Amino acid sequence: MNRKIYINGQYFDRENAKVSVFDHGLLYGDGVFEGMRIYSGKVFRLLEHLERLWESARAIALTIPITIEQLMKDVDATVKENGLEDGYIRLIVTRGAGPLGLDPFRCSDPQIIIIADTISLYPESHYTDGLKLVTASTIRNHPAALSPRIKSLNYLNNIMAKIEGLNAGCIEAVMLNHKGEVAECTGDNLFLVKNGVLSTPPIDAGILEGITRNAVLELAENAGIETRQIPLTRHDIYIADECFLTGSAAEVIPAVEIDNRVIGDGKPGPVTQKLNEAFRKLVRQR
Ligand code: PMP
Repeated sequence: MNRKIYINGQYFDRENAKVSVFDHGLLYGDGVFEGMRIYSGKVFRLLEHLERLWESARAIALTIPITIEQLMKDVDATVKENGLEDGYIRLIVTRGAGPLGLDPFRCSDPQIIIIADTISLYPESHYTDGLKLVTASTIRNHPAALSPRIKSLNYLNNIMAKIEGLNAGCIEAVMLNHKGEVAECTGDNLFLVKNGVLSTPPIDAGILEGITRNAVLELAENAGIETRQIPLTRHDIYIADECFLTGSAAEVIPAVEIDNRVIGDGKPGPVTQKLNEAFRKLVRQR
């Protein structure tokens, strides 16, 4: 399928959608991004994603050269241009091209890129049977070094952990923080259920504040499920009744094994299933 890729207000065919090799997004991972879902032709929680994008950009002193309102319109227009009813959007803002040195302030031309396409992240069997996790030895970025709240183009920290996961035969890996507490997975937030209580690490555990995470917390509260944002350890995962991951691409996905230990009874649990159904219903609401 020949997609139309948006770059700075213009559409390009896939083969002509290009940025400079001098772009600091490529040279240094200097830039920010968002990954969003399209359901029934509409982007799920677009404003929240754009607000997070702006916060990431502020944190790295990158001025996005258009307004949030304009970018909202442009994202919607790109979805329409590509005729997508269901799909995924990758929105990228790079620092732009500049001299080879690090200096971001000598890059004057940030590139705003919108790619709208279809996605299937994990095989369907992982949603029905649950996936296996491993704890990575690579810890999540220390918040005082590079805050995990910034969704930056520098994903090497997560990629290091992803390599460990894949080498162990797992498609996701759990990352601990510098204190040894559970932070998140390489591209997903993590939830546990124990005795009917839903818990997930707090933002200051050094995680990305996931849009899906927030949606699931709201759904749980609406369903009368007690929720807690508290520090969790690997031990808490070992003794949990249920575990699941959330992300825009992954949605709600059960995890049934970690570090070769079975979680709960080794099957997606009832709370996970309930929240998964509630999430699927929510995203289809217009
Ligand atoms: N943590 C990390 C490290 C991520 O990259 C993502 C997004 N893929 C998430 C959590 C989930 O965030 P969201 O629900 O906003 O997609």
